[in-house]
Amino acid sequence: MAIPIYEIYALKYAGPFTRPASMVNWFQDIDKNLQINYYIFAIRGGGETIIVDCGCAPQLAKERNLAGYVNPVDVLKRIDLDAAKIKHVVATHIHFDHISGVELFPQATIFLQEKEFNFWMTNPIAKRAPFLHVTDPVANRYLAGLKGKKRLQLLRGDKKILPGIKLLLCPGHTIGLQTVVVNTAKGKAIVGSDSAHTFSSYRTDIPSAIITDMIAWMKSYDKIRAKASSLDLIFPGHDLALIDAYPKVAEDVSRLV
Ligand SMILES: [Zn+2]
Repeated sequence: MAIPIYEIYALKYAGPFTRPASMVNWFQDIDKNLQINYYIFAIRGGGETIIVDCGCAPQLAKERNLAGYVNPVDVLKRIDLDAAKIKHVVATHIHFDHISGVELFPQATIFLQEKEFNFWMTNPIAKRAPFLHVTDPVANRYLAGLKGKKRLQLLRGDKKILPGIKLLLCPGHTIGLQTVVVNTAKGKAIVGSDSAHTFSSYRTDIPSAIITDMIAWMKSYDKIRAKASSLDLIFPGHDLALIDAYPKVAEDVSRLV
């Protein structure tokens, strides 16, 4: 059977936020600022829909006072997707802006790397300030409650989850971040999430300043570049260009490929 061809959509759900440029790209332009957005991604093809990352839940968005926030459920509606009926969610990593909205997808199987899950759920270091700062305790409690259930698939490394959809363990930003290799009309594309905040990282090797393991991160860049059909098909987690430089299909929704 032929492998399905998928389309990839970026859906902005919050932002823009102004950040020190040196936080977005480690030690670059230390006296400048730049802007980022928060996104989720949708992959559609072969009769399937896969959502990559969950965005932020409304309650936490309020607590954190997120500028330009729209409930990810409402952003998905703009391309006729019903969060309550989504069957596959890839959670790239357990930072609040990517995992907080996990409860918005009550029917979905959640794909996470076991290493990532175990660190945030069981390692006391995850309760220390630098990690706590990016945690949503409510989402983490919900995830902990899914342990042992079929809805939570904890993966040990690279794994094909559907024909033409493969997850890659790409540590660096977090201990068990995963990216998504997607079979598209242009070849193998990668939804990289926070393996980079901006497109430039995949060319320069300069990641964001939110680092768990820099050595692992460099190896992850080698892996990502080797798997993608071209550098232009590797999509980062927070770049404004994800919306600005691609065809618009709805408000704050673009088709990347
Ligand atoms: Zn992020």
